[in-house]
Amino acid sequence: MTIDFFADYSMTIDGATVTSPATFETWNPATEEMIARVPDAHRDQLEAAVTAARRAFPAWSARPVAERQALLARVGEVIERHAEDFMRLLTLEQGKARAGAEWEIGGSAIWCREIATQSLPVHVAERSAGRSVETRRVPLGVVGGITPWNFPVLLAVWKIAPALVAGNTMVLKPSPYTPLCTLKLGELLRDVLPAGVLNIVSGGNDLGAWMTAHPGIDKISFTGSTATGRRIMESASGNLKRITLELGGNDPAIVLPDVDIAETARQLFWAAFQNSAQFCVAAKRLYIHEDIYDDLSTALVDYARTVRVGDGSRQGTDLGPIQNRMQFEKLKALLADARAEGQHFLLGGEVDDGPGFFVPVTIVDNPPEDSRVVVEEAFGPVLPLLRFRDVDDVVRRANDTEYGLAASVWSRDTDQARAIAERIEAGTVWINEIHSFSPHVAFGGHKQSGIGIENALDGLAEYTNAQTIVTRTHQAAG
Ligand code: NAD
Repeated sequence: MTIDFFADYSMTIDGATVTSPATFETWNPATEEMIARVPDAHRDQLEAAVTAARRAFPAWSARPVAERQALLARVGEVIERHAEDFMRLLTLEQGKARAGAEWEIGGSAIWCREIATQSLPVHVAERSAGRSVETRRVPLGVVGGITPWNFPVLLAVWKIAPALVAGNTMVLKPSPYTPLCTLKLGELLRDVLPAGVLNIVSGGNDLGAWMTAHPGIDKISFTGSTATGRRIMESASGNLKRITLELGGNDPAIVLPDVDIAETARQLFWAAFQNSAQFCVAAKRLYIHEDIYDDLSTALVDYARTVRVGDGSRQGTDLGPIQNRMQFEKLKALLADARAEGQHFLLGGEVDDGPGFFVPVTIVDNPPEDSRVVVEEAFGPVLPLLRFRDVDDVVRRANDTEYGLAASVWSRDTDQARAIAERIEAGTVWINEIHSFSPHVAFGGHKQSGIGIENALDGLAEYTNAQTIVTRTHQAAG
């Protein structure tokens, strides 16, 4: 199928092209130029999407799982076949540099292929002469997917693949800041999936709220901020929707004094600034042992000076802009606050006039533990370095947050690092590496970083209900 990735953005409802009289604009964050207008779904159009998904559900859920898996593998092939267009469009709408776009689009294809190998086994609790007790997993019905703007394609695929393999149908809404790749994915898949199985609707936050309250949607799978997650949990209670919430984080990285300074500095740089730090699991607080604080912070700054921030579509750019003006203004306010408090910047801190939402790599030297740059999720390239002396103290400080998404520990002494990792309140703790994800490894937040799991069989199970069937094969004589 030949489609133009750079024009004519439409929604996909019941396998068909749907536009809307109302539209909203999408912008290139590197140039502040408008890219395109996209449909702003009306409430009736959401109704149509939910109706189509409900209508498609009986046939889709009745298909053998192997057929659904095969179709998901084809979704991965489609992404792979159109990878170049996806990467260019992703950079245009999201801002990320080429390497980041390759990681995201390549990862999306891999996820489809790998989730397509998964299925949930029937659990046999008893099988004896005359009686069996089995628990199997059945799909929920219609899943509403709501995604953010930092990894618009990969995070959509993290929902589409397990939801569909498990036998559900879907209505998916991308972020209004980055709807373009998701709309094109819907367009490409009209020829691949049966009508109504995957409906893609675009619109603002209201559309998301309509979805979470909709009685025809059985589950919400959401990735986004903790504030929105709380609203969704409240609004989803009407019909006791199942929810999976992947929310914000304020991940600590704890660096012990025995690390290789230069190598760790390089790894920590990318741990913190990948995707211009618009990453839920970015290392957001760097706790460095006082014995190496000066050496490591110098090495980090030296490495940071070699990294090029700019338009992601230009060759040689390592880090792109902030994705949208709202986030850009939030970061400028955060930096102004740090300056007003007299904090010391080892690097960056000053935002130039546009065009483009560019924030330089900013490293803050040991700010107070209760300052905004430490307590808040910046979701941008502003990194506090914090000194510590004592392990008990650093564990307490690392855990002193409402978040619990991920963390990392860096040391040659992996026993000690492991002992620290076990004391961290977070869903993932990496030791001497970071940001390794897999379709076969569970990912989810503790505390206010979320509810539920994505990926692995635990993640697949979240798209199902358990059904226990108890069979007595010989009826007792009446
Ligand atoms: P956001 O919560 O503002 O928006 C996310 C999505 O929710 C968008 O599609 C938006 O339109 C929709 N939405 C907004 N209000 C809604 C409402 N009341 N009801 C239903 N839907 C609504 O988040 P964002 O700014 O797009 O993303 C940044 C946040 O996402 C950060 O906090 C980041 O840490 C988090 N995030 C978490 C993960 C994770 O896996 N834990 C991954 C990526 C991003």
